[in-house]
Amino acid sequence: MTEANLTPEQLEFREYAQRWLEENAPPPPPERLPITPIEVMTVGQRDYLQDWQYKCFAAGLVGADYPKAYGGHGHTGFQRIANQELNRAQVPFLINIVGLSMAAPTILHHGTEEQKRKFIPGCLSGEEIWCQGFSEPGAGSDLANQRTSAVREAEDWIVNGHKVWTSLGHFAKWMILVTRTSKDDKYNGLTYFLCPIAGHAGVTVRPLVKITGETGFNEVFFEDVRVPDANRLDDVGKGWAVAMTTLLAERGASEGAGSGGGSGSSAIADLIELARNSWRDGVLAVDDPVTRDAIIQRAIVGEGLRQNGRRARVAALCDHPMRLPLQQKLTASEFQQDNARLGVEIAGASASLYKLDPRAPDAGHWPLAYLNSYGNTIAAGTNEIQRNILGERVLGLPKSK
Ligand SMILES: Cc1cc2nc3c(=O)[nH]c(=O)nc-3n(C[C@H](O)[C@H](O)[C@H](O)COP(=O)(O)OP(=O)(O)OC[C@H]3O[C@@H](n4cnc5c(N)ncnc54)[C@H](O)[C@@H]3O)c2cc1C
Repeated sequence: MTEANLTPEQLEFREYAQRWLEENAPPPPPERLPITPIEVMTVGQRDYLQDWQYKCFAAGLVGADYPKAYGGHGHTGFQRIANQELNRAQVPFLINIVGLSMAAPTILHHGTEEQKRKFIPGCLSGEEIWCQGFSEPGAGSDLANQRTSAVREAEDWIVNGHKVWTSLGHFAKWMILVTRTSKDDKYNGLTYFLCPIAGHAGVTVRPLVKITGETGFNEVFFEDVRVPDANRLDDVGKGWAVAMTTLLAERGASEGAGSGGGSGSSAIADLIELARNSWRDGVLAVDDPVTRDAIIQRAIVGEGLRQNGRRARVAALCDHPMRLPLQQKLTASEFQQDNARLGVEIAGASASLYKLDPRAPDAGHWPLAYLNSYGNTIAAGTNEIQRNILGERVLGLPKSK
């Protein structure tokens, strides 16, 4: 969708979004925000971000393309514009990342009319935070190895089991949950639910501490948890197909949910600024040819990613539906990691000063971003698995043993 291809309404919407963001950029947060929504830890951070998402939603910048009946604004081709402007404005990210980029699209695709009307509005407004209950201690890359069981009892299902790495589980009202309803068939024995979490009987959420000291993800334990059959998404035994819809949405979500602060161009600008304020062999790093070259290399990859995003919008260039989403997830996570690594290198010895040290360059952003960057190469399916899928299913290479 180049500028020339936008309709007059879409062009007008872009101007409106730019103006609204200029006039309504939120005040500074009461406490430091993490780099991404999946590291939100405190109630203060949550309240600030939930309020911001609600304002964006009310202004029409979130849920722009969802039907009005499901809480959306009923437009076509507006959300991508809103996301671009949210990113450009460098405003805080939208907290309900699982709700926006996974739960809502999956419910829209597989849900009953009643489920769509009940669950999608809260995803969009951010009033109901969602988490994702896919991974288990024995089911990560091998997602179909689910052990958490759901057994039918009258109008309910009784869920027992243990999920892990559940981002935002500590604030979530709802979880998109994959369970095993039959042991006879690995893939067709799975069923997908929209499960209540906060305050629900039998659910225990326990935070896990990451290498950064942050506690954005959790373990979630289910002990005889009752989930109404009305909360089952699609048919019994169709959980694998529903989970694939979620994963495709998750892996293609790089432009999906207006993340603010995460765009490649800002990372390069931040690296240049860091180089302007750091020394290398007696000269400012920005004047050092090796550092300049390294930043230019990052900028080239960033531009490649941006062009790939544009390419994804030209149907004739999308030969395989999974190629660009998978490629983008793989490359973007490694791009972020390489940027953070370069930031640590440019900061030099002072990169060892962590975020609470007032002398740390950029308030300790670079070592924090570097440590967090490993999570991005694992979450939503590890990069090794993405390479396998790209090789086998997109390029048609022989299957690995
Ligand atoms: C920051 C973060 C947030 C997350 N948030 C959530 C969440 O909200 N909800 C949720 O359900 N999950 C979440 N996850 C979990 C994530 O989806 C899993 O960690 C991921 O799918 C990998 O599973 P695993 O950790 O069990 O690793 P394993 O599957 O045990 O893999 C271990 C290693 O072996 C490699 N490997 C495994 N199989 C193969 C193969 N066939 N070929 C080549 N290499 C292989 C992997 O690449 C990896 O390096 C999150 C993870 C992270 C890091």
